[in-house]
Amino acid sequence: MNRAVLQQLGIDLPLLPTTSVGSLPKPPDLVAARARFARGGMSQRELDEITEEAVLFWLQRQEELGLDVLVDGEMYRGDMVAYFADQLDGMELGGLVRAYGNRYYHKPVIRGPVRWEQPMTVGWWRFAQGHTKKPVKAIITGPYTMMDWSFNEHYPDRRGACLALAHEMRKEVEALASAGAKIVQIDEPALSVRPDELPMAIEATRIVTEGIAVYSITHACYGAFEQIYPGMLGLSTHNLDLAISQSAIDWIGIMRRAPFTKDLSVGVLDVHTYAVESVQAVRGCIERAMELVPRRALWVTPDCGLKTRTVEEAIEKLGNMVVATQLVRESAAGRQS
Ligand SMILES: [Zn+2]
Repeated sequence: MNRAVLQQLGIDLPLLPTTSVGSLPKPPDLVAARARFARGGMSQRELDEITEEAVLFWLQRQEELGLDVLVDGEMYRGDMVAYFADQLDGMELGGLVRAYGNRYYHKPVIRGPVRWEQPMTVGWWRFAQGHTKKPVKAIITGPYTMMDWSFNEHYPDRRGACLALAHEMRKEVEALASAGAKIVQIDEPALSVRPDELPMAIEATRIVTEGIAVYSITHACYGAFEQIYPGMLGLSTHNLDLAISQSAIDWIGIMRRAPFTKDLSVGVLDVHTYAVESVQAVRGCIERAMELVPRRALWVTPDCGLKTRTVEEAIEKLGNMVVATQLVRESAAGRQS
């Protein structure tokens, strides 16, 4: 499938590459430091040092667990949209809005023309990649979700806002690629919110990725995929990361409509429960996914970012994911010989 793209980039991954989706739990000392910083009780430099320690902590854990593609864990981020909105010219953070449950966040507002001013994630990506020999995946929030989760007071319509964001977020991907990033993930959790807007999301993704020499992934954790399949295969990214193993959707039935033509990252860990999935349960998920796509096209991931779990839960879950993947690799190798 897209192994050739990875090979051209000089990235050699085993069968069933394992990776985290993106966010990992912040260690308690970083949580405390961020709260202190927010109250004005700590300098940016001091916070950055504690954040770097947390990134190093997670790089080391991921290496020990045996993950193949590492992440920086997004230790420096609060909200996935606000982090970028805060740094783009033309956007600012509005008042508190209720998200789900009792979670509140500052919903971004587009007040003027959106403009990328300087790299937003490149420094952190470079820091992480500088401390490991394994590839570190760069992660940005996609333009469609940025638009969908913000108030638009400037552009005439959603499409205008979405495509403007796409042109600016592309500059971040270009900056990441120039810094040496080979794998870039675009988070689009809003992808299937409005099936009639799928062509807009596809156009925006093409603007973000077209012609840039990276292996690209779209992460869309939940949604009405049955309504946007096979249309979603029109996305320009090489890999679609879907929480399909936990969903009630009949993927085998859906894929009978049209074969899956991309690499598939299958989410095998439920990030919303503290219960740690057993090796056997994860193995079953991977083996079911192997019925959907050729094994060389399959990646193994949690179904979303693990930031809502504790550090210990995340380590245990990822550990079982890696062990289960190794067992499937061994039995696949056995069947081949
Ligand atoms: Zn997600």
